[in-house]
Amino acid sequence: MLIIGPPGSGKGTQAERISARLGVVAISTGDIFRAHVEGASPLGVKAKKYMDSGDFVPDSVTNKMVRDRLSQSDVSGGFLLDGYPRTAAQVDYLDEVLAEACQKLDAVLQLTTEDEELVTRLLRRAKETGRSDDTETVIRHRLDLYHEQTEAVVARYAERGILTTVDGMGSVDEVTNRAVLAGPRQLSRD
Ligand code: ADP
Repeated sequence: MLIIGPPGSGKGTQAERISARLGVVAISTGDIFRAHVEGASPLGVKAKKYMDSGDFVPDSVTNKMVRDRLSQSDVSGGFLLDGYPRTAAQVDYLDEVLAEACQKLDAVLQLTTEDEELVTRLLRRAKETGRSDDTETVIRHRLDLYHEQTEAVVARYAERGILTTVDGMGSVDEVTNRAVLAGPRQLSRD
């Protein structure tokens, strides 16, 4: 399963909850990149300048990282990817990786929230956690990239008939409940 949404839509929080319900591992490309930056690995050094300016890390770097992560043993029972794919080329790449592994996507969940609410949430988060990419200019750039590139990704999955869109406004519980009600049937099993 994939979860897709603009920065600040709460996709990381919902990914944790939904993956726990499904009993599958949650994989966040943003978290993996941040761990590399923290550890100052060669990948982290490469990714940092893109992340700090709110740009996408190049597909060549991101795709390889995702391929490596998806080859690990904890993924064999399924996975929830958060933050990937964000570009058309990443969609094609993920298709290839999954086809090679004889796996397929069951469901894609999109969270929507209005831009001004997202900016407000991210500026609030900036005060609490100080993420280096949560400044207003960088936030607006990340939102622009979402509209320019990632909405086309969402459209591809809509064409395949595996997309569910859920309103990301409201409390964390409200959004989870909406996802459970509207999302893939595996989610509503107790
Ligand atoms: P957000 O969705 O709030 O922008 P994430 O934590 O998902 O935050 O990602 C943080 C940063 O990591 C992105 O701005 C980008 O630089 C990088 N990143 C994460 N996922 C990808 C991806 N699939 N492709 C390219 N860059 C990515």
